[in-house]
Amino acid sequence: MKDSDLQRLNDGIRDVQDFPKPGIVFKDITPVLSDGELFRLSIDGFIETAREAEISKIIGIDARGFIFGAAVADRLGVGFVPIRKKGKLPWVCEGIAYKLEYGDAEVEVHRDAIVPGEKVMMVDDLLATGGTAGAALELVKKLGGDVVCATFLIELEFLNGRDNLPDDIRVESLLKY
Ligand code: AMP
Repeated sequence: MKDSDLQRLNDGIRDVQDFPKPGIVFKDITPVLSDGELFRLSIDGFIETAREAEISKIIGIDARGFIFGAAVADRLGVGFVPIRKKGKLPWVCEGIAYKLEYGDAEVEVHRDAIVPGEKVMMVDDLLATGGTAGAALELVKKLGGDVVCATFLIELEFLNGRDNLPDDIRVESLLKY
């Protein structure tokens, strides 16, 4: 992706101080979503990552990963699987508990959402400590999925989230802070 496009995307991210807790600088991606050109650019970025891999499913993480992930899946013409916070999915689930930058959490996925051996790409808005993505990747592995890459719009590099993700998975982020 061109530096000028990355700069435009970067300019669309709004820093919100002390949300949802004092001391957290929240990266607000809603200005990117509400601008048609920026939203399309962000999806272009995810698609560039996906290009060389034969992906058959996109995994999106609750909740902003649904927005980007669903758009990426539509462009690629592949299915979309939501990984949701505990208690939201109606059918039989696999679940996993983990720690967040600001609290504890548990995520779930429907047990039949991924066919064993299927090549999947994970999409989320932001990689912070890597707790969420790490848990999601473990869930996908439990179901027998082959994760080709984990992709993020934003990576907070100072939190070293990559260290919490498996070594054998390609990790890509468009904007690094
Ligand atoms: P983590 O598990 O620490 O990598 O946190 C990643 C998840 O929490 C992502 O799905 C983000 O949506 C959200 N998140 C964590 N920290 C921030 C932040 N500083 N700004 C915006 N979203 C965040």
